[in-house]
Amino acid sequence: MLSTHLGAIPGRARRVSVHIIPSLAMTFAIVSALVLTLALSLALPREVRAQTDDEKTVKAIFDERLTSGEMYYLLGDLCKNIGPRLSGSEGAERAVEWAREVMEGYGFDRVYLQEVMVPHWERGDPEQVRIVNVEEGMIELNALAIGGSVPTATTGITAEVVVVHSLEEVEELGREIIEGKIVFYNRAFDQTVIGTGAGYGGAVPQRFAGPSQAAKYGAVGVVIRSVASNFDDAPHTGGLRYADDVERIPAAALGFQSADRLVQVLDGQPDARLFMHLSSKWHPDALSHNVIGEIRGSERPDEIILVGGHLDSWDVSEGAHDDGAGTVHAIGVLRTFQQLGIRPRHTIRAVLFMNEENGLRGGIKYAEVAKETGEKHLIALESDAGGFSPRGFGATADDDVLERFRSWLPLFPQNTISYINKGGGGADIGPLRRETGTPTIGYIPDSQRAFDYHHAPTDVFETVNRRELELGGASIATLIYLIDKYGLQDEKAQ
Ligand SMILES: [Zn+2]
Repeated sequence: MLSTHLGAIPGRARRVSVHIIPSLAMTFAIVSALVLTLALSLALPREVRAQTDDEKTVKAIFDERLTSGEMYYLLGDLCKNIGPRLSGSEGAERAVEWAREVMEGYGFDRVYLQEVMVPHWERGDPEQVRIVNVEEGMIELNALAIGGSVPTATTGITAEVVVVHSLEEVEELGREIIEGKIVFYNRAFDQTVIGTGAGYGGAVPQRFAGPSQAAKYGAVGVVIRSVASNFDDAPHTGGLRYADDVERIPAAALGFQSADRLVQVLDGQPDARLFMHLSSKWHPDALSHNVIGEIRGSERPDEIILVGGHLDSWDVSEGAHDDGAGTVHAIGVLRTFQQLGIRPRHTIRAVLFMNEENGLRGGIKYAEVAKETGEKHLIALESDAGGFSPRGFGATADDDVLERFRSWLPLFPQNTISYINKGGGGADIGPLRRETGTPTIGYIPDSQRAFDYHHAPTDVFETVNRRELELGGASIATLIYLIDKYGLQDEKAQ
């Protein structure tokens, strides 16, 4: 029986019990694996066998994460008891207090808040987007306002629809066709790409820049096919950026099936019109915080190894994968060191950034302060790609640093981490790299399901697998452990 509880957060303790009945086949598999491991270790060259201390520590890190499941329960607490936490909202402020309470509860060496002013946008009433003037009377579509969208008139807008697949197509059609219409960006997520981040990147300009591009040619509103890989009808929000020199027009994202329906109806019924009603609202900037916790280094306390995720989420979801997973991964590194009694040489700092989703103010503020105070960051790692099974890391660092990281790959059990890409980081730590030249690392989990949930109401705790989340946490803790122990370069000369 495995038993665990979350004792550090008063009143939030959870206890689960899992009974495991090993089958004969499982016993055989375990024995075979042990024999194989022994045979392999005898076959290894001496320099690899010499790494047994590291192997033991890495095994302890993975064992701790997989057996306690503590970060999984912490994530459940964040998702279910705090929930959505868009910048400026009450939920975001509760998340800040939650994170501080969790890290203070663990008794990390130092826990503090860093003030940052954040944008404050509210969605308002549930969106209404429907096809009208059709045989069916009207057809309701599943839609979410794109984050940052201005509202429609209080009575809504109704207009003819022009279907396009790119920003360029809007320009080609020109004012003659676009003026007075609602532009429907119908570019689909490219299902042929294996790394889904590239599929997302290919389609996201329609969400980010599409509204202003349409407004430039006189459009009165925009709908897009959600930038997402799922085939259900969950719409996906996300941010947009209005250009300064054109009118701000309302914009909404349609679920996959709703987008299909709109295409189908427009094909058969040319008199169809689209009705949109959004009641979103912009408020003045609000005071919020990055939440920071650290374990002080024993030898080089003034050199910081940063591990971060973002605490804010979109308003329509629990932000379980985006980025509750990164939040607990960051806390988990400190917690794992604490639980295993690993006293780091450098200061290990967990930074839970505010406002990644619609402004990046937390990351920008953090970098500003780091530059002003001259704090030295050895390296910064971000987890913001979901709580899925680990695959690799990407690092923006010198080639010799990449080679050093690659030499550690055999230490990650069962190829949990099997590659180190050149180039990587995260949105929140990008400003730190630009301001101070700090090298950055991004955690890369399996990406196949990430954009099914990303920015959608379906990004909930139930979609997170405990083992996958904890394997990610263990992989990140392992890399941080090795960086702390060996540095980025040989330190012999120093
Ligand atoms: Zn994120």
